[in-house]
Amino acid sequence: MLNIDLHCHSNMSDGVLSPAEVVARAAANGVHALALTDHDDVAGIATAQAVAATAGLRLIPGVEISVSWGGQTVHIVGLRIDPRHPELAAGLHGIRLGRVERARRMGDDLAQSGIAGAYAGACGYAANKQLVGRTHFARWLVAQGHVPDMRAAFRRFLTRGNPGYVEHEWTTLENAVGWIHASGGTAVIAHPGRYAFNARELHLLLDAFRALGGEGIEVISGTHHPTEYGKFADLARAFSLKASRGTDFHAPGEGADIGRLPALPHYCQPVWQGWPELAAHFSSSLA
Ligand code: AMP
Ligand code: MN
Ligand code: MN
Ligand code: MN
Repeated sequence: MLNIDLHCHSNMSDGVLSPAEVVARAAANGVHALALTDHDDVAGIATAQAVAATAGLRLIPGVEISVSWGGQTVHIVGLRIDPRHPELAAGLHGIRLGRVERARRMGDDLAQSGIAGAYAGACGYAANKQLVGRTHFARWLVAQGHVPDMRAAFRRFLTRGNPGYVEHEWTTLENAVGWIHASGGTAVIAHPGRYAFNARELHLLLDAFRALGGEGIEVISGTHHPTEYGKFADLARAFSLKASRGTDFHAPGEGADIGRLPALPHYCQPVWQGWPELAAHFSSSLA
């Protein structure tokens, strides 16, 4: 089987490995094609491309865009994007400006709950100072001993109703899909099992996404429980969406390791079907 992992993070967003280290780890894990999909930034792609060329794996330029929809944050992965496309670059730049302002408010909110210095602390964990997110706050809260681990950080802090959570308006679904398409990419709904939507709301999201020309949905995600795979494979089929597979890798020892996931169910149409850059892999695997 071809090992294709279309969702992972480097330290250009909230992962801990550099783009070069992410690609090296993917190669060591036997990944044939990897999409680097940092949150709201494409800063790691050039390095990842260069390393992939020597490591013998195919790097798919990607991004994971933060969107506000239906009162929740939804993530849209763009695959095969052109990271230099001006419309995409400008859109992502705008999101990063909002992120910096949000991070300051998160720090203020934690300070009001008696936890001082969180913004500066979180920045210390962020290699990309434009990309300070909840994960960096969580790493700092763990290191400071406020919580024992990342799970507890997101259970007691940083989530709706808890200290460190602030409402934030991300971009629209229409913008995210539009920028991805403008740059030549394919749009995929990330980890549909992670949203606090009921079935009706999730169907509305898929309808809206389809109406905008969105192409795919993650069926096999490192953040999904194996019992959820079938449900999202069925939804993909029902909504005529292509299926994607991605670990959402952030750090060694945190969640699924790069490339370490089951294959797509056989009845799914893979989002990578027909991608010319994978043709050599397909023909050699048939030979
Ligand atoms: P942000 O984009 O700044 O709101 O941060 C979202 C990121 O936080 C996600 O991409 C995950 O990496 C991380 N995250 C969210 N919820 C959890 C959780 N319950 N446990 C661990 N990491 C989480
Ligand atoms: Mn993340
Ligand atoms: Mn996500
Ligand atoms: Mn992700």
